[in-house]
Amino acid sequence: MAMAMGRIGRFFAGAARLLTTARATGACDLCGRWIGEADGPLCARCAARMPWWRRADGCPRCGMPADPGLPGSQAAWGAGRSSAAPCPRCLVEGSPLHLCLAVTRYAEPLPWLLPAFKNPKGPLGPRATVWRVVDALVDALVDRLRSEHEVLPDRVASIPLHPTRLRRRGFNHADLIARRIAARLGRPFDPALLARIRDTGSQAGLAAPERRANLRGAFRARTLQPASGPRRIFLVDDVLTTGSTLDAAANALLEAGADEVWALVLSATVAGPARRSHRTPVGGEVVREPTPEASGPDSRRVC
Ligand SMILES: [Zn+2]
Ligand SMILES: [Zn+2]
Repeated sequence: MAMAMGRIGRFFAGAARLLTTARATGACDLCGRWIGEADGPLCARCAARMPWWRRADGCPRCGMPADPGLPGSQAAWGAGRSSAAPCPRCLVEGSPLHLCLAVTRYAEPLPWLLPAFKNPKGPLGPRATVWRVVDALVDALVDRLRSEHEVLPDRVASIPLHPTRLRRRGFNHADLIARRIAARLGRPFDPALLARIRDTGSQAGLAAPERRANLRGAFRARTLQPASGPRRIFLVDDVLTTGSTLDAAANALLEAGADEVWALVLSATVAGPARRSHRTPVGGEVVREPTPEASGPDSRRVC
């Protein structure tokens, strides 16, 4: 336990260091404060305020937040949580995910930063600052993976967009994150492993049961032959909300022969005000997330 705590402490120290020393810039990429040539992309204050996801923040298997406001046995688990024990739902029903690792909680500044990352036409979209912070989050995620696991999966896949949506947007934001993670891990990125074969439209505003129904049969994975080598897969997305998308994609990978699916996300939603609405610091765009109250108790499961 002491060893594990030491590792976690080293992770947070390392993550904060990454955000203050990884790259040279003139000003903090979040608050604009001048930090000189040797610092970047964030000032020490912004780096310290980054809402890092701690081990005790959620279920290690599915990523569900440890929230005392959850119903039934999930509430007891959330309230008394101090270890890496899976949530009651994973213990009873299982999960298609071997693990789910988030690097931050979906709290400021992530609710305006990550939408800006996937919306290059928005007020913050084209800014290189957003990319630098995302890169730093990827670095922190990979460092955490390496510090917690000796043996890692063999290839990296991402949550695909339907071709119609991909044409409209011009790029898949999950691909961009997955490519960076693959490069940092020295693993191949396999963008064609998963396909979204049905256009499910936007999931925003749907409760978890509706999301699950909407995603049924939405993904198909290329068959993974035993002869093609180990079949453990990293599955990358930007944000976890109800977990329905990662579950559906992981099920498709398992049906295609994958041995394990490890979910990696930059941020995981948490219960409370951070899930509801957020205004960017530059004003204008409001990003709305489904609220637990509006979506029912089941909606609080993430990944
Ligand atoms: Zn700052
Ligand atoms: Zn769980």
